[in-house]
Amino acid sequence: MLENLTGRLQGVIKNLRGQARLTEENIADAMREVRMALLEADVALPVVKDFIARVKERANGREVLQSLTPGQAVIEVVNQELTALMGQANVGLNLAAVPPVVILMAGLQGAGKTTTSGKLAKLLKEQKKKVLLASADVYRPAAITQLQTLAKQLEIDCFDSNPQQKPLDIAAQVMDQAKKSYYDVVIFDTAGRLAIDEAMMAEIKALHAYLQPTETLFVVDAMQGQDAVNTAKAFGETLPLTGVIVTKLDGDARGGAALSVRHVTGKPIKFIGVSEKVDGLEPFHPDRMAGRILG
Ligand code: GDP
Repeated sequence: MLENLTGRLQGVIKNLRGQARLTEENIADAMREVRMALLEADVALPVVKDFIARVKERANGREVLQSLTPGQAVIEVVNQELTALMGQANVGLNLAAVPPVVILMAGLQGAGKTTTSGKLAKLLKEQKKKVLLASADVYRPAAITQLQTLAKQLEIDCFDSNPQQKPLDIAAQVMDQAKKSYYDVVIFDTAGRLAIDEAMMAEIKALHAYLQPTETLFVVDAMQGQDAVNTAKAFGETLPLTGVIVTKLDGDARGGAALSVRHVTGKPIKFIGVSEKVDGLEPFHPDRMAGRILG
């Protein structure tokens, strides 16, 4: 996860740590390297610019220049700003609503929505929640089957969606069942497309209006690189997102998307996907991630 970025930044860190004195020039050199490393890791340009400007301003301040270990102080500033970029502290799921609480999953096809729905259901089941999974991906009956198979494996209930029905009708039936059978949480998986398209956005908007979810999670594949940022923007403009889940961080050598989406959407990354397996979902901790990146 983010190995390349870590590798690149460690060179800069080693250099800084060795400096007994720092000048603006030293700092500018280091920042140039950090900038390159972030861009190579696929962090979006506006995000990089903003980040570098903040670090530079603080690094050239008294706090750093008069420090006994200025190199170390700059590293600390980078660490703090990297953490801030990704959102400071972990933000968990908000389940404080009258049950059944709805979690709506949004994102492009292949982002990992279905897999992540199963992973989340498993987590919630472990917290003793009664969970109902449901899919409204009527365009791909295989996606409905995929969720049903996953649910069976996890011993979690799954709504029997009929692909002949409209997503909104499915939503109505799901809510009906969830209320009648006293489910705590409904995880509602939706249809994605290969790229942003108006019909998909209109559909998920209508589902959102109907379901009134407590959580609207945007699922994004870290391997999408720069496209992840554009997708995040589009979904963020269409839906009042409450959080983001970045998947496939295990397989991504660059992973800069994870650093950009918080900045672009303004919404917290709540979880990260770190494997294909059902337990491959972790709460996201910006400070730990920053620590991991800086080595
Ligand atoms: P959907 O179309 O958004 O529902 O995406 P799927 O849930 O079907 O996932 C697409 C592919 O990504 C599947 O092969 C998943 O196993 C895989 N996948 C999902 N999340 C992760 C993850 O965190 N790590 C890895 N390595 N693979 C993942």
